[in-house]
Amino acid sequence: MIELRHVSLRYGTREILNDISLTIEDKKVKAILGPSGVGKSTIIKLMLGLIKPTSGQVLVDGVDITHFSEVELFPIRQKMGIVFQGNALFDSMTITENMSFFLRENLNLPEAEIEARVKEQMKFAGLEGFENYLPDSLSGGMRKRVAIGRALIFHPKMILFDEPTAGLDPVSSKKILDLIARLQREIGLGAVIVTHILSDVFAVADSVAVLYQGRIIFNDVPQKLYESTHSFITSFLSNQED
Ligand code: ADP
Ligand code: MG
Repeated sequence: MIELRHVSLRYGTREILNDISLTIEDKKVKAILGPSGVGKSTIIKLMLGLIKPTSGQVLVDGVDITHFSEVELFPIRQKMGIVFQGNALFDSMTITENMSFFLRENLNLPEAEIEARVKEQMKFAGLEGFENYLPDSLSGGMRKRVAIGRALIFHPKMILFDEPTAGLDPVSSKKILDLIARLQREIGLGAVIVTHILSDVFAVADSVAVLYQGRIIFNDVPQKLYESTHSFITSFLSNQED
């Protein structure tokens, strides 16, 4: 479980997040929806301890990690896989090397175990046969699946997605969303999905928090969005429907 308690974040005099409280439950898919620049990626970084809040607390499984050092954060980060918006793959490494790199660097696992885990992820992500390809030779959707495999290879209990479908065509987007749904269904993995795309939310989220002007203005099941009278939500809904 990840909890933000009264988290505020300022850059200089600019307030990005203002008194955010959020709970991310295990085994559930939580979406955080909001327009570009609202602070969605910032929230992911706070959850991983990559940045510290100006005030408030971040808890992971009940442990206050707000002031944890890098060394203290290491076991915490192993619980949380991260899939960056741009995937952050290494261009000069093959798919297999990309998937195993951080695992090999960070955990002292026998080579056979590393190979088994790579195989498991290649299969899960539908990437068998592409082991020795370089990222640039794959489609955007396949690169995203490599990034997902690289996060899952640590066997995290939670996975954080920063805009998982941004820049993907509709068919690739659907495949990624299906994969996220399978993660929850088949291995009981919880997920956080930050996105500005409403259809992502309806496709996979158990609940959704809407972030607007630094605050959470809605936090409920996706269907309830249609009952909201908040002007940002009503205009967001009408703009994204066609
Ligand atoms: P989103 O992911 O919702 O598009 P971000 O979390 O990336 O938004 O950024 C939220 C706001 O914080 C943006 O206005 C951005 O310019 C600002 N911001 C992000 N990182 C920094 C930083 N290191 N220093 C100053 N401002 C930043
Ligand atoms: Mg972002």
